[in-house]
Amino acid sequence: MKSLVSSLILASCCWVVATPCPFDRTKMEFAGTPIEQAKCLLRPVKRGGVLGDPLKVLPQPLESLIGKPVQINADQLRKYLAAHKIAEDEIGGPISQKVTAKYFVIHDTSTPNYHDKPIPGIINTPEWPLNNFERWKKMPVAHMFVNRMGQSMTWHPFSMSWRATKYESKTLTKDESHGMFVHTELSQPRRADPNGHPGNDAIAADPGFTPAQYERLALLYVAASVEHGTWLVPAYHCCLDSGMVDGHDDPQNFRLDEWGKQVGSLVAGLNK
Ligand SMILES: [Zn+2]
Repeated sequence: MKSLVSSLILASCCWVVATPCPFDRTKMEFAGTPIEQAKCLLRPVKRGGVLGDPLKVLPQPLESLIGKPVQINADQLRKYLAAHKIAEDEIGGPISQKVTAKYFVIHDTSTPNYHDKPIPGIINTPEWPLNNFERWKKMPVAHMFVNRMGQSMTWHPFSMSWRATKYESKTLTKDESHGMFVHTELSQPRRADPNGHPGNDAIAADPGFTPAQYERLALLYVAASVEHGTWLVPAYHCCLDSGMVDGHDDPQNFRLDEWGKQVGSLVAGLNK
C-alpha cells in the first residue's frame, strides 16, 4: 500500500478535462451569484472525475441559504454543541473566530486503495483502523477530517489560510487564494477498476459516505458559515480542479440531497 500521504496526493487523479467554472478576478470569486456559483461548483462528480452538467436547482435548504446572511447566532450554536457534547476544537476552532473563506470545499480521502481486493465490510465500524484519528494526526492536508463514524478532527482552524487543491496553487496566485477556501476531507476507501491502468483507485465505497458523515459535514458547514456571517458556497474538489489534466476526482458517490437534508434538520433544530 502506498503511504497515506502519497495516496492522498497521487491516487485521485482524473484524466478527463471538463470545463472550469469561470472565475471573476475583479470580484475575486467565481462568476455569478453565490447560487449560480454553487450550481457549477457542485456538478455531479462521476467515476474518473467526469463531471455532470451544472445543477438546475440545489436541494433545499441550500437553494434558499447560500450567499444569504446567517440567522443563527453563536450562542445558539454553542448551546447545540453543549447538548451534543461536541467541543469547538472538534469542529474547526472557536465559534468566535472570523472566517474569511467564501467556499466550503468537500473532499474524499481516497485512502486506502485496496487495489484488486474488495473494500472490507467493517469500514463503518470502530474496528476499521482508519476510523482512528491517530492514523491521521500527522497528515494535516486540509482544515478538517471526518471519519466514517461521523467524528471530526481539526487539522487547521477555519480562520487559517490553507490550500488543498491544485486550483489554489496553480490557477490562482498564493495571495489571491489566501483564506478563500476551507477544506474538509471525508474518509472514503477506494479500490482499482480492473479495466483501468495499473494502480488506479477509480472505484469508491458505495454508498460513498455514512449518514453520520453527512450529519457532521452539515455541522461543519453551519459552523464555518456562522463564523463567516453568510452561508458559504459549497464546492467539490473535482469541480475546482476541472480543466486541469491532473485534477482530482473527489468526492465520489457524494449524495448532495442527503447532505442537504442534514443541513436542513440541523438548521431547524438550531432555530427551535
Ligand atoms: Zn480532494
